[in-house]
Amino acid sequence: MSELECREFVEQVTAFLEGALSPEAEQDFIDHLALCDGCGRYLEQMRQTAQALTGLPADALPGDARSALLNAFRTRR
Ligand SMILES: [Zn+2]
Repeated sequence: MSELECREFVEQVTAFLEGALSPEAEQDFIDHLALCDGCGRYLEQMRQTAQALTGLPADALPGDARSALLNAFRTRR
């Protein structure tokens, strides 16, 4: 398993929100989220911005990515 750097995380945020990452890249992305509070906040900001721009509800995230994300947030507590 490769570890993502914050710089790479930021580069992939948009692709993640669009569900455009490969399953492997998505897993690395989520693993990083679980380890890094700063990137978690950044993702949340980006998600809210994307929602504001598109008017899409958070439910528009692909189901798998969304549940994996929720799990990642849950395990951080
Ligand atoms: Zn990070």
